[in-house]
Amino acid sequence: MNIHKRKFISIILFIIISVTIVYGIVTQNARANTIVEYEAQIETNNNQINVLEEIKSQLHITAELLRNNDYINNGLTDMLSQKWHECNDYQNSKNNENVELQTKIAELKKQQGKKRFVGNFKITHYCPCTTCNGSWGSKTALGTTMTPHRTIAVDPRVIPLGSRVEINGQIYIAEDTGGAIKGNRIDMCVSSHAEAYRRGVLHNVPVYIVK
Ligand SMILES: [Zn+2]
Repeated sequence: MNIHKRKFISIILFIIISVTIVYGIVTQNARANTIVEYEAQIETNNNQINVLEEIKSQLHITAELLRNNDYINNGLTDMLSQKWHECNDYQNSKNNENVELQTKIAELKKQQGKKRFVGNFKITHYCPCTTCNGSWGSKTALGTTMTPHRTIAVDPRVIPLGSRVEINGQIYIAEDTGGAIKGNRIDMCVSSHAEAYRRGVLHNVPVYIVK
């Protein structure tokens, strides 16, 4: 508590004590019996009314001083300051979040610029076994060896052989073809015949060629 505040509180206490003492004296009733005494009492009462009016005025001024004084308002000021900082911190975190989001948007736009949507495809699965490939064996149309989860068979008129193809976020290589693989059809090479059965047939899968 600084000197200014102590001085202020002393003044407030002095005013309250003074007012209490004066109020006590003023409100003492004199005993009156005669007209002169009654008139004197009226005179005294009028003086006391005036003094009481002054006390009321002082009480009002004190209340106003308390209401307007920094000492009383410090708590409120601190709270407002805290709220200001909370708002500011929240703004900063939101600004940082926006910067991060803008970076992500820029990255996605860059990626989108590097890939071309081909269409929605029906996707089936096959494996390097003889049942799936017959006399072709495990060689692809490009002459490479079938690689599960990498090799896909495509219609070369829709997806050129050698293309890097993105399906469900994974990259595959269009290196094989198939008799039944026409138009928006892809046959995806997996590890085993059992896996091919398990994965079954997928419909309306978005397919992209990645540059
Ligand atoms: Zn098979």
